[in-house]
Amino acid sequence: MKHSPLVQSLIEAFTCLPGVGQRSAQRMTYALLERNREGGLYLAESLRGAMEGVRQCRRCRNFAENELCPVCADPRRDDGEVCVVSSPSDVLAIEQSGEYRGRYFVLMGHLSPIDGIGPSAIGLDLLEEQLREGGIRELILAVGTTVEGEATAHYICEMAEESGVRVSRIAQGVPMGGELEFVDGATLAHALKGRRSV
Ligand SMILES: [Zn+2]
Repeated sequence: MKHSPLVQSLIEAFTCLPGVGQRSAQRMTYALLERNREGGLYLAESLRGAMEGVRQCRRCRNFAENELCPVCADPRRDDGEVCVVSSPSDVLAIEQSGEYRGRYFVLMGHLSPIDGIGPSAIGLDLLEEQLREGGIRELILAVGTTVEGEATAHYICEMAEESGVRVSRIAQGVPMGGELEFVDGATLAHALKGRRSV
C-alpha cells in the first residue's frame, strides 16, 4: 500500500531519529494520527523550538540557549579545570556523577582526517586560544578510547604541552571504545578521581 504524501513524509521524517527504521517510523506516525494529534502537535512545536533555539555555548561549545551554557555561567565552577569531552551527552553523564566542579569543553566529534574533520571542525582552535589566554591549570581528557578518540587526545596533549598546561586522562573503569553516556555515575566519579597525568 502506498501512503499519501503527508503521511509518507512524516514517516520519512521519523527515520532521522537514531535507532528508528522504516517500521517503527510507520508505527509512530500511525499512533499519532490515530490517537494522539495533540501529542503530535506538541512534538512538532518542541522540535521546532529546540532546533531553532538551541545553539552552542560561546565558551565550551555545549548546548546553550544563551551566549553561555549554565555551567560556564556559574561563577562557582572552577575555571582552572577543563574536562574535554566528545559530546553534550558526556557532559550530562559527568554532571550526574556529581563529583566534578570544573568546566567543560565539548568537541562535538573527534578528529577524523579521512572524513574531512580537522582541528577547527571540532573547536580545537577555540580551545587553543583558551589555553593561551592562561587561567587553565589542567585539561582532563575524557574523549573515549576509539581510534579517533586516541588521535584527538594526542593532538590536544601536544597543544596543551605547548601552552604549558597539565593534561590528565580519565581511565579506570571506562570501557575500551566506550561512550561515556553508558557509564554509570559511580564509575565515572571514580574514573575522574583516578585520572592520570599524560
Ligand atoms: Zn559553556
